Amino acid sequence: VFALFTVGNMNAQKKPYLDKNKTIEQRIDLLLPLMTLEEKVGQMNQYNGFWDVTGPAPKGGTAELKYEHLRKGWVGSMLTVRGVKEVRAVQKIAVEETRLGIPLIIGFDVIHGYKILSPIPLAEAASWDLEAIKKSAAIAADEASASGINWTFGPNVDVANDARWGRVMEGAGEDPYLGSKIAIARVHGFQGETIADLAKVNTIAACAKHFAAYGYVEAGLEYNIVDISNSKLYNSVLPPFKATVDAGVRTFMNSFNTLNGVPATGSVFLQRDILKGKWKFDGFVISDYASIREMIAHGYAKDEADATAKAVIAGSDMDMESYLYVAKLVGLVKEGKVKEALVDDAVRRILRVKFELGLFDDPYKYCDEKREKAVIGSKANNDGVLDMAKKSIVLLKNEKNLLPLKKSGQKIALIGALANDKNSPLGSWRIASDNNTAVSVLEGMQQYKDNQLTFEKGADLTVGKISFLDEVVFNTTDKSGFEAAKTAAKNADVVVMVLGEHGFQSGEGRSRTDLNLPGLQQELLEEIYKVNPNIVLVLNNGRPLSIPWAAEHVPAIVEAWHLGTQTGNAVAQVLYGDYNPSGKLPMSFPRNVGQVPIYYNKYSTGRPIDSDKNVFWSHYTDVEKTPQFPFGFGLSYTKFDYKNLKINKPAFTKGENVQVSVEVVNSGNYDGKEVVQLYIHDEYASVIRPIKELKGFELITLKKGETKTISFTLTDKELGFYDNEGNYLIEPGTFKIMVGGSSDKGLQSGFEIKE
Ligand code: BGC
Repeated sequence: VFALFTVGNMNAQKKPYLDKNKTIEQRIDLLLPLMTLEEKVGQMNQYNGFWDVTGPAPKGGTAELKYEHLRKGWVGSMLTVRGVKEVRAVQKIAVEETRLGIPLIIGFDVIHGYKILSPIPLAEAASWDLEAIKKSAAIAADEASASGINWTFGPNVDVANDARWGRVMEGAGEDPYLGSKIAIARVHGFQGETIADLAKVNTIAACAKHFAAYGYVEAGLEYNIVDISNSKLYNSVLPPFKATVDAGVRTFMNSFNTLNGVPATGSVFLQRDILKGKWKFDGFVISDYASIREMIAHGYAKDEADATAKAVIAGSDMDMESYLYVAKLVGLVKEGKVKEALVDDAVRRILRVKFELGLFDDPYKYCDEKREKAVIGSKANNDGVLDMAKKSIVLLKNEKNLLPLKKSGQKIALIGALANDKNSPLGSWRIASDNNTAVSVLEGMQQYKDNQLTFEKGADLTVGKISFLDEVVFNTTDKSGFEAAKTAAKNADVVVMVLGEHGFQSGEGRSRTDLNLPGLQQELLEEIYKVNPNIVLVLNNGRPLSIPWAAEHVPAIVEAWHLGTQTGNAVAQVLYGDYNPSGKLPMSFPRNVGQVPIYYNKYSTGRPIDSDKNVFWSHYTDVEKTPQFPFGFGLSYTKFDYKNLKINKPAFTKGENVQVSVEVVNSGNYDGKEVVQLYIHDEYASVIRPIKELKGFELITLKKGETKTISFTLTDKELGFYDNEGNYLIEPGTFKIMVGGSSDKGLQSGFEIKE
């Protein structure tokens, strides 16, 4: 202890890198040469804090090992350490007991909020409201930073179009354009607008993940291989990642999948050639959880040393919980198998972000108990997530004037176990928040006191213990609650049924092979419909579901996802018309799972029947090929009409901007918001282009009766595409455009681009 104490107190002159008057690069230049190879490798090592870090020194097992490494300066970062007390405990060891006192960067999965939860990311994407999404990320950063955390493993920018994959709930859906805009909003929400903002106490470093193509795991099966074309890679997968680099994201996480037979973690092509080469990313890359070690399981690395060498050479700068860099990298450098320059480059990147966060200047800046108490769970943060939750709701169907509900004199039967659930609405990925802290739909609706409300669950959705790591078990047999639910429905004017997936049924490791309402819910729905067809179906889910029966029979359907802490308040305000829904789907909803992957920005198939009308013989014999609910679709309590679509000229020369304008009228009976969407179709190109591509959108507010003219500018950024070598091209040719409130219909026009 004495020896450690004396080295730990290396005096200030010997720590020239603490001089705030020097630039960050100068400070790194001063620090790097002082570091031993072991200390450098230590910076590249991240451990999970799964032990009582505030307690006495752990004895035995991995906890003891991690603790010893921490005290030697062989740990650069920790994850899942939470709360000021815990963070202070580990930071103190790093800063006060190690020779150079390099602070830890503390990572955490702040995926949709920290303690107070906002809607799951897919739900937020349905708002198409970039300001609200940015604010939601800023709230999460505010709470996490108040809890000692300075780095989030988000945003997830994986474009995905296979709803079988459970992690679609973490992303922004199927479209690279919308996905890029949302990715930028989230990066700025977490980090602030500029890198200088990172030094503030309420911002945290962001992490674009999972690099790359994880959203295309084959058959939606978790951790599976990815086999996609170059065209898809360059035009769909990579753009949101590139957008985060341009927005200043400080870290990247690689992914579990292979791409073209090479694990992303070992991919020189992805991490060195594209990310650090072409895009000039100067932050650092963290591996995904144990993904370096998993290269052995993939059959890509011979053993631990081989996996380590391959990961470092490929540009994975930090090892999350594989225990491999710390065990093997020093030896590999000494044997000449990995160049020390690669280690230096990785360490420089990691130190850069630590300096930018201000950790060297004040390692305890995130450890302020007073701030922790004041910020976490504050009224302002709750108001913020409620606002986000309302904006995330999508009205999918509204017939028979069922919605909005009348505020008095109505008898309402609320049915479905999820309606009375305070846990499920929190959704997957909520490591820091307490169980059962959501406002349930029942609680939300009880606040509208002038109606008569009865609740019956009908049937349980799940049985047994349910947590993030457990498999979710469905009760498929106990129908004893059906009769009471039917009686309640029979006696009601309107039935509100809350059905869908449990919050832990989506997320990591939660692939499904069918997308129907799980368990007894479909049967319950049909039974209730027999006694009272005036049903408002409120869906809770982390992915698109296939609900063909409901889409045909049930008069009103509200997509409410997993909306986080304020779920019940948000749903009730929408049902009762205190908030007019304006969300639009960020992913297509299939008619059945056999259509998956289904997405609006698909390609023409050939075999036209009438090419003018874009009708093709390619079809299924058993179901229509269109989605049940398309991308960009969502209704309002009011009605919007589009007219006078104009393009400023019929033909343009390459490089000229195209100006598009359209008038939107609120012709219904309520004030409301609409997402005006602009799609293009490049009719022929050297690599075929999708039949529609979103290239502009604007969220507008229109009073009842009001008309607004909305303008879009299409520049080279929107009019080009990537060829199969990753070059960005603008080719002359003809383009069609479509403007409307959904991807499936709108006003159409066209123009030409000449050489
Ligand atoms: C996930 C990452 C996550 C990491 C740390 C992994 O299993 O794929 O998205 O950030 O765990 O919790």
